[in-house]
Amino acid sequence: MTVHFYNSLTRRKDPFEPITAGKAAIYTCGPTIYNFAHIGNFRAYMFEDLLRRYLMFRGYDVKHVMNLTDVEDKLIRTCRETGKSLKELTEFYAQAFFEDIDTLGILRAHAYPAATDHIPEMVDMIKTLREKGHTYEAKGSIYFKLSTFPDYGALSHIDADTLRTGGSGRVDADEYEAEEARDFALWKAWDEDDGEVFWETELGKGRPGWHIECSAMSIKYLGNHFDIHCGGIDNMFPHHENEIAQARCATGQPFVNYWLHCAHLMVDGRKMSKSLGNFHTLRDLLEKGLDPRAIRYTLLATHYRQPANFTFEAVEAATQALRRIRDFRIRLAETTGEGDALQEECAACEKAFVRDMDDDLNISGALGAVFNFIRDVNKKLDAGSAGREGADNALALLDRLDAVTGVFAEADEEAAPQEILDQVAARQEARRNKDFAAADAIRDALLEAGWVIEDTPDGARVKRA
Ligand code: AMP
Ligand code: ZN
Repeated sequence: MTVHFYNSLTRRKDPFEPITAGKAAIYTCGPTIYNFAHIGNFRAYMFEDLLRRYLMFRGYDVKHVMNLTDVEDKLIRTCRETGKSLKELTEFYAQAFFEDIDTLGILRAHAYPAATDHIPEMVDMIKTLREKGHTYEAKGSIYFKLSTFPDYGALSHIDADTLRTGGSGRVDADEYEAEEARDFALWKAWDEDDGEVFWETELGKGRPGWHIECSAMSIKYLGNHFDIHCGGIDNMFPHHENEIAQARCATGQPFVNYWLHCAHLMVDGRKMSKSLGNFHTLRDLLEKGLDPRAIRYTLLATHYRQPANFTFEAVEAATQALRRIRDFRIRLAETTGEGDALQEECAACEKAFVRDMDDDLNISGALGAVFNFIRDVNKKLDAGSAGREGADNALALLDRLDAVTGVFAEADEEAAPQEILDQVAARQEARRNKDFAAADAIRDALLEAGWVIEDTPDGARVKRA
């Protein structure tokens, strides 16, 4: 069996055949850093983390690039509303984003190109599109002419009628609906609302549209033609459709072979989103005392193409699942003596895990295989028939599968997030200053947040309560 992915472009499960044998180049649309990401966003990044980790597990040398959108309509609006500069806003939220992905155990991408660091690349691409006759200008802005790209709509499968009726007008906004498929802005001429956000370039005074950012940066970091491009399902139209149009018209080459999209995280049947106000940030959930590993498990456990409802019951179920894994590991660690090496059970579990994950990352099936394994081995442990060697094999298997999922390693290995570490440092400082009341208050606050401080000869350590 080989790895198969459901490809939004072909609408079927295709075997994964990389452009370069043994390698996989992945571009994933990253956050617009104007606010804290919500856990709906993290569902998308979690799915991409699983994809990346699984390809690594299957022996691919993966290169993963994720952009940071640091200039875009919503951001500029937020600058206007808060009186903050683009840089102030984006630096703060980029930092928060990195803290959050670390807390969730999401592997860092190999590169996080920011749009504002790549204005020349975007300008070059727009110039190329202009030279090739794919653009026109209106009121100083430059638009992509949809009629010059007959394949437009192939990814999102929007019908030709929609395009015909919409094709006559143009759209300035970064985000819009499929019914409004129109010539879209590549370069937006400055207007008053943009305030201090503009670049003086050969294209005039203005700023790039959102879509050109991902075409220019993915090509810069991964080449004209690369393997996999991901995002949430809402990115498919117009964003990815526009990316394809820009990239293919500029390079004259194929762009991406596999387009993978994850379904939304829902709340009471509606997409979790900033605009509906029905969202939780990771920080909100941690403040409520939830364990980041349980949040990771919750976001991971539903197949990525299936809408998942976020509920606190689901997090509780994840907590129970993690407890079972931890209890099992403790039991294995304490197993002694001669006995069954559990080779058959380990091999069957790994085979089932790989079979399910090869099938478009069927994580629910794969997790089920591991829990069957835990049940079977527990029975052998009850009967006293498994020995130390078997326990070692089982632990080694869990560690291997942890590299894919991040939920099978020991709970104690959980790294404390930066804000917790900062508080530990503040408590040490208070103790040094003999302000024991302040030190105790910090300790109590940490305990409330689910962390205990242990004073050891090597200094203070923090672990999960
Ligand atoms: P944005 O910052 O809105 O561009 O979103 C960043 C990423 O999160 C994109 O890939 C979106 O598709 C994804 N996303 C946004 N909301 C959700 C949600 N409720 N469930 C899953 N993914 C989402
Ligand atoms: Zn993008």
